[in-house]
Amino acid sequence: MKTSVYFLQILILAFIMLEVKAQKSYDHLIFPDTTERIILVKARKSVDKSENLSGSELKKELPTSQKIMRELNYPFHQSVIRLNQCSRNLSGNNDGPNVLFLSENQGGFPRQGIAIQSDDNLREYPKLNYVDLVISDNMFETGALDIYSHELGHVMMNNIWENFPKYISKKQHVSMGVTDYYKAFAEGWGIHFQRLAHDQIPLYQTGFAKTYNYDRTNKLWHSNVDENLRINAVLTNDYIHRKLLPQYNPSNSLKPEEHCCPIKI
Ligand SMILES: [Zn+2]
Repeated sequence: MKTSVYFLQILILAFIMLEVKAQKSYDHLIFPDTTERIILVKARKSVDKSENLSGSELKKELPTSQKIMRELNYPFHQSVIRLNQCSRNLSGNNDGPNVLFLSENQGGFPRQGIAIQSDDNLREYPKLNYVDLVISDNMFETGALDIYSHELGHVMMNNIWENFPKYISKKQHVSMGVTDYYKAFAEGWGIHFQRLAHDQIPLYQTGFAKTYNYDRTNKLWHSNVDENLRINAVLTNDYIHRKLLPQYNPSNSLKPEEHCCPIKI
């Protein structure tokens, strides 16, 4: 019995290794330069008075670079980076490397346009879409890049829907809020990548369990409730089955409450 379990484990390992090798063997068809699938750019205040966000390429040998690249090298992240490059190839927006921009702006953002300083060389890519994230050293233990694929999902959308009408949602951006169709579609797309990252990367599952444990202060922190709903509520259909709906009252002209949590009270 034990021998067959070992045999099965070796077979699964061999299959995973073949799968990774097979994906990598097609990279030359996807990336213009396979040695530069993605580079890290650290924000700097206005390089050469550029109108774009600007920064310097982070040296590969720095410990922070190596920690980030180790996480970006997870097979799941490599797959979404490939997918993003495919969206760039499809839309013809393939001038410039894929970039992870390390900024001081809390949150995560899809951005367009960047100026990159490396040694004496300044490169400008005004149409390049990329992810902007804040990453600090104390984040690696629980997964510094768990939101990365969510933001990269938005980057992919920006690559391929350049000709769609410009639209800025005025509604709030939280998982317990009622929003408009545009925001619901855009965020649903991003959150589905976030959930896939959670499923594929054990580090994100342990990080999530630590953040959203049953300690009272952690559980009641608004952003933790928000994250729990993003990761779990759509999958478990809580929005349909557990939501408190406003009462219909024809004589009442007030709008229905737009901030209603699907957690049962
Ligand atoms: Zn989003």
